[in-house]
Amino acid sequence: MMAIALPSLIDTVAARMIAAAEELTALDSAIGDGDHGHNMKRGFEAVLADREKLVALPLPEALKAVGMALVMKVGGASGPLYGTLFMTLGKELAADPDVAELARALDAAIAAVKARGKSDFGAKTMLDVLGPVASSLTATTSLAAVREIASASAQATVPMRATRGRASFLGERSVGHMDPGARSSEIIIHAICDVLEGRS
Ligand code: ADP
Ligand code: MG
Repeated sequence: MMAIALPSLIDTVAARMIAAAEELTALDSAIGDGDHGHNMKRGFEAVLADREKLVALPLPEALKAVGMALVMKVGGASGPLYGTLFMTLGKELAADPDVAELARALDAAIAAVKARGKSDFGAKTMLDVLGPVASSLTATTSLAAVREIASASAQATVPMRATRGRASFLGERSVGHMDPGARSSEIIIHAICDVLEGRS
């Protein structure tokens, strides 16, 4: 079993997202409209505004509430997509999941994001980080390995050509830049690993 400390999960993920606002916005300026950092910051500030309510909830209910806050507060494509990810995780997860249950819930959440975004792996999006992380999760995967896969997968979006989202409007010119949503997913995965390891 993985004991997930909900207050520290919420605080760490939100703090990392807010701290990364400028970096994410810079990435999105290169191949999008330069708002990804602000979008995510606004969303996670809304999550923090609900902190006291959220930490009192069981993990699945808290994840659903986070997803709803993101849908409502994050503009752009990423709000409904991250919202769908967290809401589906909340729907699918048990209150005290083991790694196998977490992997299954993450697979379901990824499928929901694909459906919502009419998207798939290889389109240079957040899915290109979330997918490899989900497939890596087994009872014996180390958190260090998960972090490494998240980082390598975000890096692997650099040479990809975007076929979904605003970056796809650039066609070949989207090549050579990291996808902002892939980077925000990497940051979220690292934050979760740090919380699970008690490092946050
Ligand atoms: P917008 O593109 O509306 O400005 P953001 O800048 O906040 O929204 O988010 C952009 C990120 O959202 C992209 O970097 C990409 O990772 C992700 N994204 C965009 N469209 C899709 C899609 N159809 N499926 C999956 N992810 C997507
Ligand atoms: Mg944008």
